[in-house]
Amino acid sequence: MSGTTTPFIARTSDQLRKLAALRKASAHWRDADDVFTRLCRRMTVSLNLEYLIAIFAEELGTIVAFDHLTYRHRIGCQDFVYASGLGGQHRCDYRLSLEGVNYGGLTVTRRARFSEEEQEAIEQLLSVAICPIRNACQFEAVQQTALTDALTQIPNKRALDEALVKQCHLGDRHDEVCSLILCDLDHFKRINDTYGHVIGDHILHAVAKELAKATRNSDGIYRFGGEEFAIILPHTGEDEARVVADRIRGFVAQVVVNCGESDVATTASAGLALRQANETPSEWLARADEALYRAKKQGRNCTRVSDCIANHPS
Ligand code: GH3
Ligand code: MG
Ligand code: MG
Repeated sequence: MSGTTTPFIARTSDQLRKLAALRKASAHWRDADDVFTRLCRRMTVSLNLEYLIAIFAEELGTIVAFDHLTYRHRIGCQDFVYASGLGGQHRCDYRLSLEGVNYGGLTVTRRARFSEEEQEAIEQLLSVAICPIRNACQFEAVQQTALTDALTQIPNKRALDEALVKQCHLGDRHDEVCSLILCDLDHFKRINDTYGHVIGDHILHAVAKELAKATRNSDGIYRFGGEEFAIILPHTGEDEARVVADRIRGFVAQVVVNCGESDVATTASAGLALRQANETPSEWLARADEALYRAKKQGRNCTRVSDCIANHPS
């Protein structure tokens, strides 16, 4: 037989009833304006922890008045803190956890006492928020891991690349001065060959800690490669950065790792480049690398500064 036939898919009355219910539920989810549904809806659209806590604070504020809200959580090696508003001697503290895992603490304060009903409302909203908060915390932890060097626990090359791009934007937009130091351990292969990789790893770990001591909190420290570190010094001109580079070398020289029969120490060479106007991250990095190369060539355990013009040795 030829000719066209209209395909017919049989649906049971139960399926038809469920389809209608689904359509109704979907419309309700989209249009409902109660705080519960709104919070569910809004908290599923992002994995950004700061954004989610801000939404929670906003929605909570529509049903419970408060003067101040804080959320704190230690994620990896960083403290995440969200705070909005000020004051109030009455407080409600909540420890957020799911399946036995801690996801931080939330505190709400205000000048007047919180009623039982209000406390119950906060808890109900937290029961909606906890899963999205857990997801955002886990996402934040994964992001941190991707940007952290496993051995030294300091930011890695990928984090450095991002930071250089950001500094270049700030430099171009706000005329901000910024210096970059590349610091490479001297004859490190010899240390590995003589004392073994485990001792080499101990030294790298100790050096990373010394770099943190030798610099300000606002400076960025990165493991750039095997035994190479990069330090970004915002708001720091060449003369000041040179002092920092020499101080870093002094700190590195004090690192001593005991390996049974003897103590093992190392030194570092440093290359410094002040960012020039309109310079790209790779051009800036290349000039610091060229200065480092000269420091190596001219005897190691010293600092060399890049000229403004790339590949023009001084
Ligand atoms: P220079 O003074 O010219 O920098 O000499 P160097 O020996 O430090 O430089 P070279 O580039 O020849 O060797 C770098 C060494 O760093 C070789 C490698 O075994 C070591 N290294 C790189 N990454 C690691 C690491 O994660 N752990 C350890 N223990 N050693 C590493
Ligand atoms: Mg080296
Ligand atoms: Mg090297």
